[in-house]
Amino acid sequence: MLTASTLILLATLAGYALLCAIRPFAVCRTCSGTGLREARKGMKLCRRCRGTRYRLRAGRRLRNHARRVHTEGTCTRPTTDKERLPWQ
Ligand SMILES: [Zn+2]
Repeated sequence: MLTASTLILLATLAGYALLCAIRPFAVCRTCSGTGLREARKGMKLCRRCRGTRYRLRAGRRLRNHARRVHTEGTCTRPTTDKERLPWQ
């Protein structure tokens, strides 16, 4: 039987996954969405978001990585640019 805290945790994770699916980008926390940061000689582009003002959410980054690993692991197309290993 699931306890109430487990249900709350699962609901929170499901909500975050839904948020990452609907809105994968969030406002950059370093520059607060301005795309600029203060430097000694005036303003410079924010290094974290490279001036785009948005960052990829951690959950979406994790999903993209998992999707990439799955795609590369199940790819059945022959690779012509790589040297084939003896067991392939
Ligand atoms: Zn930024």
